[in-house]
Order: sequence, then C-alpha cells, then structure tokens
Amino acid sequence: MNPDPATTLDSALRRFTSSHMELLTLAIEQSPFGIIIMDLEGRVEYCNQGFIDMSGFSQAEIVGVTPLPWNPDETTYAIYRNLLTSQNQTNRWNGDVPSRRKDGSEYWERQVASTLRDTDGKHTHLIVVKEDISDRKVRRADYAQTRHLHERALASSSNGIMITRSDEDDHSIVYVNPAFERITGYRAAEVIGQEGRFLVRDDLAQPELEHIRSALRGKHEGQATLRNYRKDGSLFWNELHIAPVRDLAGGATTHFVSVINDISERIRYQHALEYQANHDSLTGLANRNLLNDRIEQAIAWAKRNGHVIGVMLLDLDHFKLINDASGHSAGDALLKEVAHRLTGCVRETDTVARLGGDEFVIILTDLPQPDDVDQIAEKILTTLSRPTDVAGRDVFVTASIGVSLYPRDGDHGEILLRYADMAMYRVKEHGRNSVRQFMPEMGSSAISRLDMEAAMRRGLERGEFVLHYQPKIDLRTQGIVGAEALVRWQHPQIGLVHPIEFIRLAEETGLILPLGEWVLAEACRQQVLWQQQGAAPLKVAINMSARQFRQDELAERIAAVFKSTGADPTQFILELTESMVMHDVDSTLVSLRALKTLGVSLSLDDFGTGYSSLSYLRRFPIDELKIDRSFINDIHTNPDDAAIAGAIVAMARSLGLSVVAEGVEKKEQSDLLAALGCNQVQGYFYARPMTASAFADRLQQSLEKRP
Ligand code: C2E
Ligand code: MG
Ligand code: MG
Repeated sequence: MNPDPATTLDSALRRFTSSHMELLTLAIEQSPFGIIIMDLEGRVEYCNQGFIDMSGFSQAEIVGVTPLPWNPDETTYAIYRNLLTSQNQTNRWNGDVPSRRKDGSEYWERQVASTLRDTDGKHTHLIVVKEDISDRKVRRADYAQTRHLHERALASSSNGIMITRSDEDDHSIVYVNPAFERITGYRAAEVIGQEGRFLVRDDLAQPELEHIRSALRGKHEGQATLRNYRKDGSLFWNELHIAPVRDLAGGATTHFVSVINDISERIRYQHALEYQANHDSLTGLANRNLLNDRIEQAIAWAKRNGHVIGVMLLDLDHFKLINDASGHSAGDALLKEVAHRLTGCVRETDTVARLGGDEFVIILTDLPQPDDVDQIAEKILTTLSRPTDVAGRDVFVTASIGVSLYPRDGDHGEILLRYADMAMYRVKEHGRNSVRQFMPEMGSSAISRLDMEAAMRRGLERGEFVLHYQPKIDLRTQGIVGAEALVRWQHPQIGLVHPIEFIRLAEETGLILPLGEWVLAEACRQQVLWQQQGAAPLKVAINMSARQFRQDELAERIAAVFKSTGADPTQFILELTESMVMHDVDSTLVSLRALKTLGVSLSLDDFGTGYSSLSYLRRFPIDELKIDRSFINDIHTNPDDAAIAGAIVAMARSLGLSVVAEGVEKKEQSDLLAALGCNQVQGYFYARPMTASAFADRLQQSLEKRP
C-alpha cells in the first residue's frame, strides 16, 4: 500500500490528540519489533527499545552514528539508498537481511523498510521495522538441508533400501531406492505394494529368517544373511539389516527400513576359500582336512546307528616310475583318472580323498557287512587295472590297498588311518596290487612318524635294535635247519616295536642302509657265536629292502661285513622280494650274480603276491622261493589256495629251487604242504620269532629230542 501524498504531517497532526501521541510513543517503544528511523544520510535518528534489545547496542551507540555499527551489508545499504533517492511511488521494501549483534553474533532480520515524506512529498526519512527471525531461518534451512541429504543418501546409497509398512497385516513396500532396483532387477513400480518378504520366494527353510520375523514382531532391529532371488531367478546373498521407524511423536512403529547388502561376491569368495582349504587342487577330491572331518562325522553317525565304517588307504604301485618315465603332466593326468575311477566305485555318501602324492583314502560309510569292504576293494582293483590313456599311450597302474574298520579296529579317525596304512604297507611288502585288512598283530605304536625318524637314529646309535630268529623247519626231518633273522626295536619307553612300524619309514629316510648293515653284521656275529658254541650248520636268512638292494657296490659292502665278522657266506640266505627284482631286470641280474659270487644263497620272499614271470625266474640265479603267508592261511580249507601252492611247489622244483612256506599256523597246513612236496616251513605252529638265546635253547632241545 502506497502512502498517499495527502497523508502529510499536517493532516496527520490534525487527526491526533495529545493522548494519541502518548499511545503512539508507547506502542512504538513497546513493539516486539525493532524500529529505527534514519535520515537521508543513513544516520539513525531514532531507535526503539525493541531494537536495543534485539541488537544489544545502547541508544547512544546507535543514534547519530555512521557507519551503522551492526554493519548491514552493501546490498542492504544500496536498497536503502535507492528507496530514499528514487522518486517513484513504491518506496517500500521487505526482505531478510543478515545482521550482527554487539557481542559479534550473527542473526537474521526480516525487515520492512519504507520512506517518510514531507508535505511536498519529498523523502525525509527511512523507517525500518525489524524482526529477529534467526530461529525460524535456521530451522527451515536445516530442515531443507537434512531432507535433501536424506534423499541423496537414499538414492545414491550402494546398499539397497526398502521401506515397508509395519501394520498388523500390511507389510507392503512403500519405497525402494535405485540400488534396490539394481541389485534385485525389479523396478520400483513393480514392487511397491508387494509384501516385503517376496525376495525370499519359497526358499523358506533358512534358519536366519526367524531373526527377521522376530524383529518385525517385536518392532526392534534385526539382522540376517539370507538367500534372496532376483527378478531373473538368480540367487544373491543378502546381508539384511532392518530397523523400525517410529512416528514423529516417537511412539508407534509405522514403518521398517530394510538395508540390503548384496554380499554374494564375498560369499562366493568365502566358498572358494573353503573349497580350496578342503579340496585337492589337482583332482578336486577331498584333502586331508576335509577327510579328517568326514571320518569323525562318519564315526559319530555310525556310533548312533550301530553301523560299520571302512577306511581304505590306497597307494598306487610304482607311480614314481610312470612319473619319471612319462613326465609330470602325464603323472597328473593319471592321478586325475584314478580319482575319477575311484569316485565311480563308491556311493555318493562315501568320501574319496587324496592325501597327496599317489595316496588316496576312501571312507565307506555304513557297510552292511564288514566283508563287503573286500568286494569294494576288488572292484577298485579291477577298475584300476583297465589301461589308462596317458599322452597317447596305454599305461597300466595297480594299487595296494590297506583296510581298517570301525568299530573293529578303533573308534578314532587317526587310528583307523594309521591301521589302514599299516595294512597297506603289508600289501606293498608282499607284492602289491592287492588288498589287506588290518590285523592287530600288525602292531600299533605310540610314536608319531615325525618323532619316529629322530628316535630311530638315536636307537641305532644307542644299540636299541635287536634281532629275533624264527626257526625254519625241514618238513622231512621236522628238524630246525635254519632261521630267519627279523629285526625289532627295543624302544626304551614303548617297548618292543615290530618292523611293520618302522621299515617303511627307514626306507623312505634312507635309515634302512645303516640299519640293514647292522642287521647283517649282527646276524653274522650271532652265527659265528653259535658255530663256536658247537651248533650244527644253520642257514640264517636275512631280509633285504629295496633301497639296500639298489645300493652301489652292494656285494662289496656285504663281503666286507662277512670278512670283518669272520662269518661263512655259504651259511647265509639273502631274502629279496619279487617287486625288488622285477623292476629293471638287467641291472638286477648283474647285482644277483655279484651276490652269488660271494657264496650266499638267494631267496624270493613273499612269493605269489607280485608279478613274477616264469621266464625271469629261470634267468635269475636264485635258490629258494618262500610262498607268501596269504596262500597258506586257508590252504587246508580252500582247494583253490591248495592248488596255487601246489603249482608253485611244482614250478619251483622244475626250476631246481627249494620251496619254503611261511605263516604255517596249523598242523593241517604243515601236513598238506608236506604232501605237496614243499621242502621247509616256518610259522607259529612250530615257533614264533624269538631272541637269540631262546633260539639257542630251542636248538638244543630239538637236538636232544632226536633219537
Ligand atoms: P617277512 O620277511 O615275510 O617275515 C615274516 C613275517 O611273518 C615276520 O613278521 C614273522 O614274525 C611273521 N610270521 C612268521 N610266522 C608266522 C605265522 O605263522 N603267522 C603269522 N601271522 N605271521 C608269521 P615280522 O617279524 O613282523 O616282519 C615283518 C616284515 O618286516 C618281514 O616280512 C620283512 O619283510 C620285514 N623285515 C623284518 N626284519 C627285517 C630286516 O632285518 N630287514 C628288512 N629289510 N626287512 C625286515
Ligand atoms: Mg622274510
Ligand atoms: Mg615273507
């Protein structure tokens, strides 16, 4: 509203009475607004109490002072000047202006400025009415800012955000942000109005869902990692946080905010790590880690259900030869093929693991009959015996399998593995490509493999090894004609340790060389002693290991021992196994001939378990075959075994070899062997291996018994 030029001082005064003047003064002085009146130079002529209160300056600091102490900015000055100088009618302005109090603090004023005119209509003054609006201004600015921030945060968040209602029976979605659309593949329009849980689809068997349900029920925060599904049906892992939103009064929960974090990548990585930690990278089979878990699980399960578990330890025969001959990638291809075939031989609930190298373990859960394990092992041997195409060539591979059973042999994974390993070692020793179950006599020991090596070294230095002797009986005369020297380790803490427990390790570590040399020297010393004590001539048999046999200048070394002990080489038999001599036949022939020239006899131990060919036997200068115990076990009950033993005896005799049967535990076995034409026997039926002095006593007795 423009001031009417007629409203001049005169006409105004005419309308005012003196009481009006008083009222006017009070009204201006007590107005809640600050009011100042400035002259044309911009100097303040009057200020009311309201402005003194608002600004903190005293009247003296305001009136007549230039520049204005509250420092209105240049723009405000320019506006004032404009109002005062321009002569148009609209000399009024309002706006928000920053100002400063006496104490230096800043605040906002909402101002209405208008000019005063004299009777001629000329501007004489400017009156400014001010209101302190800082509070309102700040609040409004904050609110806008906060709202803006929230919107930005929601929209630019990399986490999906979903807001749902939280009514009794309405949990429908009211908002989703762009990240939600990106993660789930759903557009906002497609999901708004749907129930919040639709991302789970029908994958409801997730235990963590309950965390979310209970948070929704109890109107509190909750968290869960869930399998959710995108629009295209693909799975993603959602690390979901939900929090209630309360109404403005802070009371009832009206909504829930769900923050969706797609952690599929992390889970995939975790799974990959877990897989790596639990699987063999070459074959994809379980590794030792997972194997240990699986055995313990299988045992726990079997305990509850009274099942039998089989643990098979399988080691490929002569894998090293294939690896060396055809190269590592060929070896790897073969291992993969073996892994594949093994997996095909067992059920899905069984575990096939690779321990490294050419060693595999199979856990057979829930065997209906303990004997079923033999059938499965046979199936495995047959499957493996099929040729494998490796780099365009047919490769034949066989395996040695040792078996232990829960609960028969133990109720702990570690024990079962150890026993299966012992049984497997037996197979290796006795010709490979076959299966054996663990038998308690294979022994057990309290020493771990690692401790074993150091302990064996010390044992050798401290003279902890001893030889026991098992009599060899002539079937015609029933008299003792010889002895097999069998090494034992008299361990100071554990007691007597049998060779099954340490020979393999001695082989692997090379300790077998000093040990073998000690065995030979000790047997020579003993033999010389017996002869000096007047015993009848007695042939002592000594076992040789593969590594010993391949030792450089073997014959020279042995000759040196005979020489230093004064023993007669013709009174000794060296026992070799088929597998030792069949590998690299030409160099074997050279070694065998060199040994023969010393005067010793040569025997082929564990005969029948390996793959001797008759033509080789003919070429080798050997003197004796020892039929393996496995053929003797059932010889009196199983006609097949009897036939095999009979064939071996006949063949040996046709080659002019002497035949010894080992493992004779029963009279029937001994009688049958005699009938088949076997020359000598050795076994528990006659005598167990015994100390040298016990053997001497035994010799004495048998001499006394003779007529
Ligand atoms: P091996 O040469 O076949 O020795 C025969 C094994 O059969 C011995 O086991 C003996 O105790 C056992 N035995 C003898 N009669 C019977 C019987 O009637 N029934 C049963 N069930 N078993 C019988 P031991 O002494 O435990 O020796 C195991 C293997 O350790 C030997 O098998 C041999 O391969 C190896 N070994 C033993 N001493 C030496 C050694 O000084 N040097 C080397 N390199 N190996 C040795
Ligand atoms: Mg032997
Ligand atoms: Mg033997």
